[in-house]
Amino acid sequence: MIRSPFPTRPSIRFLFLSLSAALLAYVVVPSAAAQSCGSQGVAAQVLGSGGPELQDKRASSSYLVWQDGRARVLVDAGGGSALRFGQSGAQMSQLDVILFTHFHVDHSADFPALIKSSWFEDRNRPLPIYGPPGNDFMPATTEFVPDFFGQKHGVYRYLSELLVPGEKGSYKMLLYNVAAGASPLTAFQTGDLALSAVRVVHGAVPALAWRVELAGKVIVFSGDTNGEGDGLPRLAANADLFIAHNAVPEGAAGLERRLHMPPSVIGEIAAGAHVKSLVLSHRMLRTLGKEPQTEAEIRKRYSGPLTFANDLDCFPLK
Ligand SMILES: [Zn+2]
Repeated sequence: MIRSPFPTRPSIRFLFLSLSAALLAYVVVPSAAAQSCGSQGVAAQVLGSGGPELQDKRASSSYLVWQDGRARVLVDAGGGSALRFGQSGAQMSQLDVILFTHFHVDHSADFPALIKSSWFEDRNRPLPIYGPPGNDFMPATTEFVPDFFGQKHGVYRYLSELLVPGEKGSYKMLLYNVAAGASPLTAFQTGDLALSAVRVVHGAVPALAWRVELAGKVIVFSGDTNGEGDGLPRLAANADLFIAHNAVPEGAAGLERRLHMPPSVIGEIAAGAHVKSLVLSHRMLRTLGKEPQTEAEIRKRYSGPLTFANDLDCFPLK
């Protein structure tokens, strides 16, 4: 007979320890709890505060704009952000619109996961999706979405009912390329929500910065940009909240500088645009740990409130 390695009657002490461990696990595991950001008024929530590197242990770029308990605008959907979306308590059926700044993987990879999740919800109105036009190097918004969900060639063509007119889906995605220049272009306006964009320079990638105006509050998302040109300062004018991407440290050169703005440029734009508060996101391994230097560079130019973002941080607009 094989002897069990376990005692046939666990001791009281063993039971007590097991029970304590179970209770402790219950207490410390964060719940995918009820939504708490933006339950009253307007708030911006950071779903993903990281860049493309998984070792930053952050979701990639993504943001929500909340109003009175409803997630109204989603900006970008980088890898990991679909999980954060669920953790935030948001529902796809709440969104008025999805905005893309550009289609790098770390800004768009979780988009199909969000759309699949929406299939299980009760969404009955169209879902407008706005993003940049394309070039030889990157798809336009009107190609990017059909590349996933198009009837013939989409990799997830089994969900084409959410895109293709005439199919039986409960709602349809509506796609728009926003051909903005340096002057803010209003892409969407309905009721108390207005969305405008400018083109920004991000290497050879067609890219937009977005301004969300909701119930008199203004949130501006830089997206990825090297900060060249006067479009972004104009778009950010007098914003209540400016969310800028801290992807490179001061002194960056070469490709990374052609793609991204260093802290001195972020500070210049924030100061020139008279933004009321600044949040730094898209934090990468090359900027994480350099917050004191980053803040010092920004402080030479901009003196308002400054926060380094973490995933799920919520910024209510008073
Ligand atoms: Zn990018």
